[in-house]
Amino acid sequence: GLLNKILDIKGSIRVFCRIRPFLWSNGGRNEEPILADSEKIVIKSGGSKKEFDFDKVFCQNSEQVRDFIVENSVEDVFVEVEPILRSALDGYNVCVLAYGQTATGKTFTMEGTRDQPGIVPCAVKELFKQASLENSASITFSISMLEVYMGNLKDLLAPRPVRRVDAKGGVEIEGLTEVPISDFKKAIWWYNKGRRARATSFTNVNDASSRSHWITISHHGEASEGETRVSKLWMVDLGGSERLLKTGAKGLTLDEGRAINLSLSALGDVIAALRRRRSHVPYRNSKLTQILRDSLGNGSKVLMLVHISPHEEDLAETICSISFAKRAR
Ligand code: ADP
Ligand code: MG
Repeated sequence: GLLNKILDIKGSIRVFCRIRPFLWSNGGRNEEPILADSEKIVIKSGGSKKEFDFDKVFCQNSEQVRDFIVENSVEDVFVEVEPILRSALDGYNVCVLAYGQTATGKTFTMEGTRDQPGIVPCAVKELFKQASLENSASITFSISMLEVYMGNLKDLLAPRPVRRVDAKGGVEIEGLTEVPISDFKKAIWWYNKGRRARATSFTNVNDASSRSHWITISHHGEASEGETRVSKLWMVDLGGSERLLKTGAKGLTLDEGRAINLSLSALGDVIAALRRRRSHVPYRNSKLTQILRDSLGNGSKVLMLVHISPHEEDLAETICSISFAKRAR
């Protein structure tokens, strides 16, 4: 549709920023270090002001989804994410990635809570709704869930080993369970099953937020003359982006921190290369980029959601996250 044409003109990588609300008192300061505009954030530190542009900025009182919006609130995240989901139904591969330091709200944005559902449940709901509007019985969906921890892949929907095989034209994940889902309720049932299977679900919060877990919804639609067209929607809750020293301090082992940092920097390199239309895109440097290869380049749509903390003490990490975002824009 028209929206996709607009997306094509503007390029296929969007970078949004979401600022988490204050989790603890601001110490009574009336000067906030980070100011947000709808497409810009301003960081004040040491008497200087730095401005950063984004395709969209969600301020601290942004809401998850319109249904749940309280009166007079400013904006909601899902309404901005919706167009890219429609691309998935139009046959594009789509990748929505939540990036940011631990505890900045990646999981809140992607999964949400019972009362404030995040992008994944909203997207699943929307896909079924759109598919039914298109009255196309030929559209089917399936779900897979994957966790990547220290370079190892874990199938979250079935307890069997997952292996990557190098296939012609990309990496395929062999043996990854793909469950057909016929409606929203079934999809959420599998989604919750996958969430419970995460290696991290019974350990502490920091650990849980420091490993990537992904969900992919495959859409099997009818292309011309009975040909099936498959497109993938990846929704990825990335590992915490904090730098090694701090990661160590938070109870992760150095190896864990290093593995996460490596895959995030590989992701940054890939996106920067795509953005600059380089002929060589370094997909091979991490498992993350190998697996997402089909959904990052080549006419696919990427939405990077960079999460930042509003607190002054997190400013150094915030600036790192913004630098990451700048490379992608
Ligand atoms: P991450 O996944 O990046 O480590 P979380 O999503 O776990 O971070 O968020 C950390 C805490 O902050 C959680 O308790 C979460 O509910 C809360 N939180 C994050 N973002 C928001 C938000 N936009 N509004 C309200 N609470 C939030
Ligand atoms: Mg998390």
